[in-house]
Amino acid sequence: MTAKQLQEEILSLKKKNDVTILAHYYQPIEIQEIADFLGDSLELSSTAKEKANSEYIIFAGVDFMAETASILNPDKHILIPNPESCCPMAAFLTPEMVLEFKKKNRGLPAVVYVNSTATVKAESDICCTSANAVKIVEKISHEFDIDSVLFGPDANLADYTEQLSKIHTIKMPENGHCYVHSQIIKEDIKIITEKYPKAELLVHPECIREVRELAKLVGSTTGMYNYVKESNSNINEFIIGTEVGLLERLTQDFPTKRFYLAKEKLICHNMKKHNLDLIKYLLENLDDKTFEVKVPLKIAERAIKPIEKMLEFS
Ligand code: SF4
Repeated sequence: MTAKQLQEEILSLKKKNDVTILAHYYQPIEIQEIADFLGDSLELSSTAKEKANSEYIIFAGVDFMAETASILNPDKHILIPNPESCCPMAAFLTPEMVLEFKKKNRGLPAVVYVNSTATVKAESDICCTSANAVKIVEKISHEFDIDSVLFGPDANLADYTEQLSKIHTIKMPENGHCYVHSQIIKEDIKIITEKYPKAELLVHPECIREVRELAKLVGSTTGMYNYVKESNSNINEFIIGTEVGLLERLTQDFPTKRFYLAKEKLICHNMKKHNLDLIKYLLENLDDKTFEVKVPLKIAERAIKPIEKMLEFS
């Protein structure tokens, strides 16, 4: 069966069974094409709550995203096409580590990136996204009347937030990083900007500081997408410093503009563990519990608090 035929079957099964498919921008383009909603992690979880009326939701993203969707939508069945799709950056931080950092730094709140497990969120004070981290840290430091916060698991986002907010971030842990974004180095940017001198450089805050400092825009995936969408018609070339899936999305949505990847092979292999065959199987076996992500109630009740606090502060 060709990819096109599989996509058609999926669309028909999806309609027949009343299932909503959510896909992250880093998903393979053939999955993005059959999704009802596309977006970044928190956006998709909120979409599941506000716009998806179906009982079953297929979430093509990594583990922590499906967990967040489950926390925000306890009455819905959240299904992940490949349960082995996990985020190595989220795995840098455990709930025990958060408790240890809090013990050693009494009085300091723990700010955790939404790219973290539900058990980590349950021990934290507030969540943040790459788009609102600066605002969240500013507000929480004001509330606690402090000039330092605990921040994890991404040390590069922590550093970016510290640079802009001037509030010290104690990294939980010191070396937490995303292997996709942190592999881009200054030399890569030198090579690509020499090749495409007219292109504007857009990078993710999970990139290292040396790379961020060369960018025209440091932003989340949605931030980069909107920047291109709203860009002046005489700006036609962009260098994209994030996972290749976003570049594929931009290329389809803005055919008159040109996009170049900041370096070759910016691929999140964990995100790419889903495929059309798995989605078709799920649609034919909605009650196969192997694929359902359900955060235990005791953890969900605690993990939702830092998410709600973030939404209140945003
Ligand atoms: S791109 Fe990085 S942060 Fe996102 S899922 Fe992959 S490893 Fe995790």
